[in-house]
Amino acid sequence: QAKVLGGRRCAIFDVDLRRRMQRQLDLEQELRGAADAGLLHAVYQPIIDIPTGEIVAVEALLRWNHPEFGKVSPAEFIPIAEESGLINDIGARALRTVSREFMEHLPTSGWRLNVNLSARQLDDAHLPDIVRDAVSSSGLPASRLCLEITESALMQDLHNAGDVLAKLREPGVSLAIDDFGTGYSSLAQLHRMPTDSLKIDRSFVLDIGKTTDTDIIVSSIIAMAHTLNLAVVAEGVETEEQLTMLRDLGCDQAQGFLLGKPVPIDALEGEIARCRQQRYADGH
Ligand code: C2E
Ligand code: MG
Ligand code: MG
Ligand code: MG
Repeated sequence: QAKVLGGRRCAIFDVDLRRRMQRQLDLEQELRGAADAGLLHAVYQPIIDIPTGEIVAVEALLRWNHPEFGKVSPAEFIPIAEESGLINDIGARALRTVSREFMEHLPTSGWRLNVNLSARQLDDAHLPDIVRDAVSSSGLPASRLCLEITESALMQDLHNAGDVLAKLREPGVSLAIDDFGTGYSSLAQLHRMPTDSLKIDRSFVLDIGKTTDTDIIVSSIIAMAHTLNLAVVAEGVETEEQLTMLRDLGCDQAQGFLLGKPVPIDALEGEIARCRQQRYADGH
């Protein structure tokens, strides 16, 4: 009996695994075509300065709407792009496109533009040229571009990360460590990274004010970042309570659905106004 069950379970697992592998292969194939045809597009999410409530930056986030598969999340297609090596092309093209789009729509906003880079792109010796090219061809001042790199990407290649970051920063762009708190870096390692800001991972923000542990962790991250002269951004802020807690803990900036969802660039100002009105109506 057990053997039969085991066999059956194995067969089910097999079918599921095969389906997942087939989807991976299909998506990889389609992603190649979509990237070449320019079918990936970006949405933009505001980042506010907590003390003043003013927008200081927007983060560009890639979207892929496939005619057959529907909306494919970047959480699914970015890893596929990384494994297949497509990320270098996709990343370079995205950087160029979003810089241009940003300058076309918001040239005088004074806001910064944040763009995500993946670990694989850091290995590319051409990356500093790609960044310079995106800046010069769009007219975006280098000082208004911020590149986000996840803490875990930096930890993958600790020995080289410092030099790579220093080169990237040469034209005057700033660097942010993304998803901070999930990669277990030490203060000493962080000190060696030439960066400008640190983004506290959404998983901590979600539990803020709920567990003492989380509050202590977040407060330590903020203290440590300030010691290193880094600005602190909280990601995934969804409630007024979270925002108030973050303000009390001295967090500098915030990003999240409470302040604006990621939207196409021409819908950005409407989305910001919608959130302001909603918060005002709620008494904040
Ligand atoms: P990330 O860079 O940490 O971006 C923040 C993610 O959190 C985004 O998910 C955003 O939509 C989501 N988010 C923001 N505020 C809230 C909130 O209040 N609540 C919730 N539940 N979620 C919130 P998204 O757009 O699905 O992107 C997922 C990840 O995919 C990004 O995480 C980033 O690592 C990666 N990604 C997106 N675009 C690019 C890109 O152009 N290049 C690279 N290398 N990675 C990208
Ligand atoms: Mg990011
Ligand atoms: Mg992040
Ligand atoms: Mg994140």
